[in-house]
Amino acid sequence: MTQSLLQKATTEHTLTQDEIISLLSCVNPWELFKAADQIRKQYVGDGVYLRGLIEFSSYCKNDCMYCGLRRSNVQAQRYRLSPQQIIEMARKAVSYGYKTVVLQSGEDLWFDADKMCHILREIKKLDIAITLSIGEKTREEYAAYHQAGADRYLLRIETTNQALYEKLDPAMFWQNRVRCLHDLKELGYEVGSGSLVGLPGQTLDDLAQDLLFFKQLPVDMAGIGPFIPHPHTPLAEEKVQGHFELSLKMMAIMRLLLPDINIPATTAMETLHPQGRLLALQCGANVVMPNVTEGDYRKKYELYPGKICTGESPSQCRGCIQSKIESIGRFVSASKGFHGDFLKGK
Ligand code: SAH
Ligand code: SF4
Repeated sequence: MTQSLLQKATTEHTLTQDEIISLLSCVNPWELFKAADQIRKQYVGDGVYLRGLIEFSSYCKNDCMYCGLRRSNVQAQRYRLSPQQIIEMARKAVSYGYKTVVLQSGEDLWFDADKMCHILREIKKLDIAITLSIGEKTREEYAAYHQAGADRYLLRIETTNQALYEKLDPAMFWQNRVRCLHDLKELGYEVGSGSLVGLPGQTLDDLAQDLLFFKQLPVDMAGIGPFIPHPHTPLAEEKVQGHFELSLKMMAIMRLLLPDINIPATTAMETLHPQGRLLALQCGANVVMPNVTEGDYRKKYELYPGKICTGESPSQCRGCIQSKIESIGRFVSASKGFHGDFLKGK
């Protein structure tokens, strides 16, 4: 059964919802992982794209039940970098060899469109690709950021189960999240989305639906993160058992369905398994997003507990990840890593 599904997925890059569920529930996923690794090699090569992650504000106006930065978490440590500090961190990232920076934060209204555009314009002068991950905005704001230099945008759908999404993200509307993704796509961004795997109440049907949603959009990037309960949230007592393997399966199937997209080996994977990112890179992933935030801030940006490398400096992270990547026979790509670059010979 698994063999014939894999045969179909590797040649046609399509699967029905039931077929995806069957792969997600397979007891021995090694054939699936092997197939995803081969398709990864064929469509995006052995190069790994590094994106330097700058976590620039831990303030958030939203209250997502799963997230340590939710506004109701009074124990969260809040900080906000100044535009100058953000630009300086981007400059340092370039000096470590990064070709892309990802600017990520909670939904912090202090950073209005004028401030964001100023930051983007300054960073763009460094001739790198810029990814934003700052949540739901109006179409006009997205247009202004794109004009100011943002090339890519990461906005996970989290789950395509609308009822579950609206239960876990109070006062947020699933349709608005979808509207954001469509606006971003129409405005010419490379769009990244993704799911949280293991949310309470989430089913394999929901996860299969997530993959079909990414295929339909279609996304240029997709990050799959295991849900890790945060002690200062309403979901503190939820379990984490099984989320790691299920996330690997999600990543592998995504590689088969969307063979040439960029798939990060997410940091949360390494929180659950000491070799989490390397295993992900061998099950379909081709991107890593090392942290380039400096000093104490990276500890304070606590979406989930047990975040890795909070005591390391950006240059240590850069060296560490490069040797890990080389230890599995891969290399750090010198390209900016746009969708499809490998097939275009870039
Ligand atoms: N505020 C922006 C970007 C920061 S949050 C946004 O929400 O889009 C980035 C991602 O962190 C979210 O998309 C979510 O999938 C992930 N995240 C939040 N809480 C988490 C948890 N407890 N475990 C794992 N990932 C989590
Ligand atoms: Fe805010 Fe993003 Fe966390 Fe939701 S997931 S509370 S929007 S930082």
